[in-house]
Amino acid sequence: MRTEEEAVAMIDPRNLDTLLHPQFDQKALKAATPLGKGLGASPGAACGKVVFTADDAEVWAARGEKVILVRLETSPEDITGMKVAQGILTVRGGMTSHAAVVARGMGTCCVSGLGDIVMDEANKKFTLGGKTFHEGDFISLDGSTGNVYDGVIPTVDASIAGEFGRIMAWADKYRKLAVRTNADTPQDAKKARELGAEGIGLCRTEHMFFDPERIFAFREMIVSDTKEEREEALEKILPYQQGDFEALYEALEGNPVTIRFLDPPLHEFVPQEEEEIEKLAKAKNKSVQEIKDIITSLHEFNPMMGHRGLRLAVTYPEIAVMQTKAVIRAAINVQKKHPDWKMNPEIMIPLTSEVKEFNVVKKVVVETADEEIKKAGANLAYQVGTMVEIPRACLTADEIAKNADFFCFGTNDLTQMTFGFSRDDAGKFLNAYYDNKIFESDPFAKLDQVGVGKLMKMAIELGKPVNPHLHVGICGEHGGDPSSVEFCHDIGLDYVSCSPFRVPVARLAAAQAQIKNPRK
Ligand code: PEP
Ligand code: MG
Repeated sequence: MRTEEEAVAMIDPRNLDTLLHPQFDQKALKAATPLGKGLGASPGAACGKVVFTADDAEVWAARGEKVILVRLETSPEDITGMKVAQGILTVRGGMTSHAAVVARGMGTCCVSGLGDIVMDEANKKFTLGGKTFHEGDFISLDGSTGNVYDGVIPTVDASIAGEFGRIMAWADKYRKLAVRTNADTPQDAKKARELGAEGIGLCRTEHMFFDPERIFAFREMIVSDTKEEREEALEKILPYQQGDFEALYEALEGNPVTIRFLDPPLHEFVPQEEEEIEKLAKAKNKSVQEIKDIITSLHEFNPMMGHRGLRLAVTYPEIAVMQTKAVIRAAINVQKKHPDWKMNPEIMIPLTSEVKEFNVVKKVVVETADEEIKKAGANLAYQVGTMVEIPRACLTADEIAKNADFFCFGTNDLTQMTFGFSRDDAGKFLNAYYDNKIFESDPFAKLDQVGVGKLMKMAIELGKPVNPHLHVGICGEHGGDPSSVEFCHDIGLDYVSCSPFRVPVARLAAAQAQIKNPRK
């Protein structure tokens, strides 16, 4: 007879994936030969007809077709198509690219970075393994192995059954690490709660800007000439954003919610199509050329190291003002409806590298929040913390911790910035690194404990002594990887945060880490 601890320790957390995602029929899979192999970016199996645009995915799905969205890479504008697809296949991108992160969030199968594909998007066709695929042809994807197959391989639906609940209850009994989720929608948050998440560790607010009315107002903000004009455009977004946060708080039922302020560079939001540019020009009383010039001026050679993160809030504090109002007003409303919930929203500033820049943005947040609370005559607690995702933030964590309520490691960017290679492009050379035994695994999937991990350890050792209340988590993709979760346990993190479908994996990995290396 085994003990509970032995039972928990015996299970390979990766096997939980098979309970949570559709799988190929094993007999059919044995008979199939892959045409190519990319990165297994989001687990599960999918089969469907090839489509090349998010719009086509929506149209085909609406008439009942099962589709696989095939793109060079995805961008936030593809979200509606991604939602309806059975699976997503991209030519470019790594384990933390847009397609990979969003697909994992939705629990949709994804193979990314299949560089062998010769893509012809304009003519809606691609070639892989000597075969040309046209729109409507069937393909099958395995998001765990990264294999792509020609034609139909039948899939078997996921079913959480049997001992799952019992094993998870045991895992919860032993683990010391809390497990939160990365979620931007009430649906994802609810799913994550069902799977055991104890809070939201990362809400990427930019994902909320892509609905048609919002994106237009956001674009109006981007092409504005004055602060007043920007504020006017932001006013239009405020009620939506507030509504989103209220829905998230409701889904979390009083559990912690961390809301990260705008992070991506502004060029990601600007219109590409002529018609959209014309519409914007008209609304802003500008010529089409003027709008095009603004779009060109937003071009950066290295956008991931460019005008993004809290740098946006330093230059345009009005964006942080609007987001703070939305966070606080929503919390006050929800608190009124549920007086027994202890609302304490956590505002997270992205990309800090210097305490003074953090302080500038924090001042804007605190002044705005306090004014909102006073105006409402409410009594609301809130926190202001930061992502720790730039090496300099780790090196100066003692300075930052004096002023921050929490740290959350953004190990996607921290890995990118520590190695100095791009999270979107590294896939092009990583295979050669495995062949030469430089790397055993993808550092964007499994934490580099030696380098990136050393920086995290340093940040905790510098930060906690100067601020005993500092709570520390991780919300990079590593937060759902078993060996990385173990490392987070060992170095004393308070929580890990991962996409909803990885929550059970993280719960089990956290319990196993405690059994192996008990901590208080
Ligand atoms: C990160 O950098 O680890 C992170 C969670 O933020 P994003 O992936 O949105 O850059
Ligand atoms: Mg980041």
